[in-house]
Amino acid sequence: MRKLVIIVAACAGVLFAARALWATTWAEVEIQCPICKTQVKVMEPMSFGSYIYQWPSRMQLLFWPTTDTSSLHYCFKCHYSAFMGDFETFPTEKAGLLRTKLGKLKAPKAEPGVHKTAGVPLGFWFDAAELRYRLLDKNDSFWSLFYRVKGYHLSTTGDEEGAKKARQKALGIVEQLLVLTKSSLKKKELLVTRAAMLYLTGKSDDVFKVLKEATAIQLQAEDGLKEDKVKNAQEYMDAVIKQLEGHVEKGEKLPQ
Ligand SMILES: [Zn+2]
Repeated sequence: MRKLVIIVAACAGVLFAARALWATTWAEVEIQCPICKTQVKVMEPMSFGSYIYQWPSRMQLLFWPTTDTSSLHYCFKCHYSAFMGDFETFPTEKAGLLRTKLGKLKAPKAEPGVHKTAGVPLGFWFDAAELRYRLLDKNDSFWSLFYRVKGYHLSTTGDEEGAKKARQKALGIVEQLLVLTKSSLKKKELLVTRAAMLYLTGKSDDVFKVLKEATAIQLQAEDGLKEDKVKNAQEYMDAVIKQLEGHVEKGEKLPQ
């Protein structure tokens, strides 16, 4: 019996250590909305580790903190919304135009606070954020990420229809980017993203072909990928492809 207790205690210790090792920590801070000057309470990341790159969202080429709803900040007074790091700054000369656009949005009633959505559908936060970013001439790589993040969060909060629409938009952008890119790393990443978006929007027929194409790409040193990083990047991307392929083979829902 004593031996059993020791084994159980040892297992619990390992579990606790594993949880601590994989923890990310957040802290509440107050930041100012650049549109209506309201002080907004938000959460900001305090600590994390490289383990975030092993989490299953990597199959959609999405990484913490974008996979946490706290990464999107929202002003309950004027609806201004932006990703963390972007929230506090917005060009003064465009603030009036954005204020008008945000004023036309109709949001469900919500109480101020840090609670993630507080009665406002998360999709509404993204709609408001989209108005902000549309005024800033963001490129296709940004929009591919924006819609993938939107799809991810709508899916995890139960809006599968909204998630599918967002992912279809991401897919269209990724397919355009694939035609243009010359970089071996970008091409491999785009093919993985394309495969994931095809799978998540129910167009499974081409997924294996796309993953095979992604596997065949041998990375090379180029802009954004130094010689000494090529091997690690190749191994990492091939592991992501294998992981995605495993779920697709079994017809499983992708873990998020
Ligand atoms: Zn505001």
